[in-house]
Amino acid sequence: MDRKYAIPFNKPYMSGKELHYMSQAVLYGEIKGNSRFTQKVHHFFQEKYGFKKCLLTTSCTDALEMAALLLDIKEGDEVIMPSYTFVSTANAFVLRGAKIVFADSLSNHPNMDVSKIEDLITARTKAIVPVHYAGVACDMDVIMQLAGKYGLFVVEDAAQAIDSYYKGRPLGSIGHLSAFSFHETKNIISGEGGMLVVNDDHFIERAEIIWEKGTNRASFFRGEVDKYGWVDIGSSYLPSDIIAAFLYAQVENLDDIQKRRKEIWNFYLQALTPLANRGVIKLPEKLDHTTNNYHMFYVICRSIEERSAIIKLLKENSILAVFHYISLHKSPYYQDKHDGRNLVNSDYFTDRLLRLPFYYELTEENLQKITTLLINCFQSKYETIS
Ligand SMILES: *Cc1c(COP(=O)(O)O)cnc(C)c1O
Repeated sequence: MDRKYAIPFNKPYMSGKELHYMSQAVLYGEIKGNSRFTQKVHHFFQEKYGFKKCLLTTSCTDALEMAALLLDIKEGDEVIMPSYTFVSTANAFVLRGAKIVFADSLSNHPNMDVSKIEDLITARTKAIVPVHYAGVACDMDVIMQLAGKYGLFVVEDAAQAIDSYYKGRPLGSIGHLSAFSFHETKNIISGEGGMLVVNDDHFIERAEIIWEKGTNRASFFRGEVDKYGWVDIGSSYLPSDIIAAFLYAQVENLDDIQKRRKEIWNFYLQALTPLANRGVIKLPEKLDHTTNNYHMFYVICRSIEERSAIIKLLKENSILAVFHYISLHKSPYYQDKHDGRNLVNSDYFTDRLLRLPFYYELTEENLQKITTLLINCFQSKYETIS
């Protein structure tokens, strides 16, 4: 957390037994990966969301890299994903030599516009990677149907999407593979942390091998083979059980965490609706097919200048609000590799989206202060900016 601000953008929340479980892991004398707490967390997610196989990783970035290995992504393969996303969504596949084909966002939401995907599919396309921005589901029926029609794999970047649903189905349970994040800015956290979810049976065995340095060690410890060795490529993707112990305390309190986040989200919505009604900002759109998991609250400003002015005003009042995602097709690393198509909606969100402080311990008083500042600033000098 950034201690420079009275109201930081994020503040990691300890929900209760984190330190207790971490010390238990140490006292058990078993702190390597895939020990007691790791298995408890796997079990929790498999039971609650019906995920076929969960594997904790040291980050969502790692889970995405495992997905790229599992899909045997090679030089020249094409992977379709939104441009308005975090670097890791693309980087995981670029590491294996893939060419990224960016799809534009919807005009009213940062999620990828699924009606644009089919035109981007070629003989070299291997996978589609939808990102459920702010925990809001992409239209998965359309994506899965295209994947079936063209024989493609689907990897859900569900980094922000824990405990959210598409037409009643948990996000992360729909694609062949899915990746979650437990980075300290997400709903439930372990500092750094992530999870690969394997929903397609035929990837399960190899996923465990890639997870454990290319060895069949997991099946050895279950007594399925009598010795273990190097059987495939892989890396060290599993976190220490101390990290899993921290995370277990978080998952135990998931419902409480979600309840508080919902209150915060609804406070922002209610307080800022008058501004949206006057047309000076836009609020998150409600899409029919999806729940909200209260991962973040953002507003859409009328211009980049107005957004900068708001950030500055909040900063002067010791409040940190942030913007993010320079469209990846315009990033220093990928702009020369991009095929040149304009992605106007992605650019629109790059310039105008503003994330407000959002964390469990944000008080009603904090929320009042933030929203009053926003309302006042549109009553005075910024009203005439555009
Ligand atoms: C946070 C995030 C990631 C990366 O997660 P890490 O756990 O930090 O690796 C990837 N994609 C999206 C959409 C994210 O929000």
